[in-house]
Amino acid sequence: MWKEVLHLHEFLLAEVTRLKQTGLYRKMDVFEPAAAVRVHCGGRNCLMFASNNYLGLTHHPAVKEAAVAATMAFGTGSGGARLTVGNHLLYDRLEDALAGFKATEAALVFGSGFLANIGVISALIGAEGVVFSDELNHASIIDGCRLARARVLTYRHRDTRDLAAKLAAVGCGGPRLIITDGVFSMDGDIAPLDVIVDLAKRHNALVMVDDAHATGVIGPGGRGTAAYYGVEEQVHIQAGTLSKALAAEGGFIAGSALLVEYLRNKARSFIFSTALAPAVVAAAHTALQLLAADASIIAGLRENTLFLRQSLREAGLKVADGETPIIPVIVGDAAKTVELAGRLYAEGIIVSAVRPPSVPEGTSRLRITVSAAHTRDELAAAARLIVRAAKTLGIGEES
Ligand SMILES: *Cc1c(COP(=O)(O)O)cnc(C)c1O
Repeated sequence: MWKEVLHLHEFLLAEVTRLKQTGLYRKMDVFEPAAAVRVHCGGRNCLMFASNNYLGLTHHPAVKEAAVAATMAFGTGSGGARLTVGNHLLYDRLEDALAGFKATEAALVFGSGFLANIGVISALIGAEGVVFSDELNHASIIDGCRLARARVLTYRHRDTRDLAAKLAAVGCGGPRLIITDGVFSMDGDIAPLDVIVDLAKRHNALVMVDDAHATGVIGPGGRGTAAYYGVEEQVHIQAGTLSKALAAEGGFIAGSALLVEYLRNKARSFIFSTALAPAVVAAAHTALQLLAADASIIAGLRENTLFLRQSLREAGLKVADGETPIIPVIVGDAAKTVELAGRLYAEGIIVSAVRPPSVPEGTSRLRITVSAAHTRDELAAAARLIVRAAKTLGIGEES
């Protein structure tokens, strides 16, 4: 027994040391949010450019009030899984609203987006199925495929020719499912869903899109990637999260009533996990209502996105083309990326340094996210500081 403990200690120490030496070590800072894009950290006021709080609704008075009211009325925890005693009455309303928003027959809320993805993939696809998966899909999709024990064919990022070739080459006895992120979390680019649904039809495959970063962000009214391309009818499964633009927590699957009925009975991450707290469900529902009622919220996000993208690019930084609020500034080297983010942090600007394994080797980057809650002055100040810090480190000159 004691020997095993010593082995474990040596193993852990070696691995942690290796991570530190290769610039891949991760630590967590403590943030004290003061407003949607303002946080206290290390005794200073900082501007947040790393959150997925795209619409700034985490601090909207109506959203906060809904969470408080739900807690006062129904308590803090749900006390059980949905199928036992956790299905409080706020759930039905949220699921109806999500189905309406996504223009599907039904929706099912899970404890998180991660749980929704692993739940739906493993419930639908078994060892006899094949999944065609974009190489940059989110970790929860990759893990969902592993859990399903499905055969997985990874196609090159957004490469519909590669996808078509793989669809043509590989048949199977079971279902074939194409899965893609709608908006890719690290690159901020949009999946070519219009071409993907055509390929799916031609090759008799199902289509699932993960709209974690697209819900409340792209498409008319922020309805996501299928709405962006007008192909809602041809997407069988739409996944999303309540934790990003919708300012709360939890994930969901939207699709046919029969799909939702099936998942309620078969998705293990739904069945064996406690229902979300009333406060969270109420907050997400209120955020969704605000989004539907006030078009200026999304318009503000789009204007802010355009402004920051343009400011950075005009200053010579290497910013990939795109229209989403996820703005990658490619640096390349992992250690240099961390250094740049650290300098910005010292100046009160919080951006993410994204390194392997989140992105491929040699493509480490700052991941800058815009919120509708940023003011024009805040965006301009951040752009100046980012550009100055990058130039000091010799980043961006070549582009
Ligand atoms: C964030 C994210 C998830 C997971 O959602 P959570 O609610 O945070 O668990 C799934 N897919 C993608 C693409 C994401 O970005």
